[in-house]
Amino acid sequence: MITNQVSMSRGLRIIWNGLLDILFPKTCLGCGREGTYICKDCEIFLSEADPMLGSPISPKILGEVGLPDIVSVWEYEGLMEKLILKIKYDGCYDIINDLVAKAFEKITLGLPQDTMITFVPMWGRKERRRGFNQAELIARAVGEKTGRPVAKLLEKIKDNRSQVGLSPQERAENVRGAFRVTPDDRISDILGMSDIPNIRNVLVVDDVYTTGATMGECIKVLKKAGAKNVWGFTLSRKMSIQNC
Ligand SMILES: [Zn+2]
Repeated sequence: MITNQVSMSRGLRIIWNGLLDILFPKTCLGCGREGTYICKDCEIFLSEADPMLGSPISPKILGEVGLPDIVSVWEYEGLMEKLILKIKYDGCYDIINDLVAKAFEKITLGLPQDTMITFVPMWGRKERRRGFNQAELIARAVGEKTGRPVAKLLEKIKDNRSQVGLSPQERAENVRGAFRVTPDDRISDILGMSDIPNIRNVLVVDDVYTTGATMGECIKVLKKAGAKNVWGFTLSRKMSIQNC
């Protein structure tokens, strides 16, 4: 019964997506060509981020898995910036699957088997207004690629103002105390399994890494709740003066 419902909704989704493609054909955000958001010719304009840079939290490599603390795939500039803004403000969240697929053509995340994937949460009202949290959608796509479970382990408990335009110090201050771990009973509901103290490894996913204030705060909260290793993954990273 459940299987039927799932396959039914998937079927409808395919038809719906097909209709949307006819009514609103995807066009490349680089050159305007129809068919995809990032055509093969424009893909070269996405600059890869050096995964070893831009991690003021701790730039060390974790010996066991060869994974830096924070992995960012591309620089947040030009075409990448356009793509992220298109996702967030025009609701074109199907770009995410294309981007995550391209990301995993370039990188491998050596995640231990018992790693849970989570994402930077949004303030509830803001998420309802937008209709989705892009970080969650990226996390779900990363979960599919890596075969690791995805769950909402964090909640946003402070409606802090946007980080845009703030200095690194202001950003850190603005985001302090903004997150907490999702109450255990709800996590068990989602997963039908262990609570946070038994989750040893966590990967936190977000769209853009700027100064690391948000990611750092999420990592801190998860570690305080008992997670042993916490890593970060973002599609892009904004170069700032601090990172140069
Ligand atoms: Zn193009």
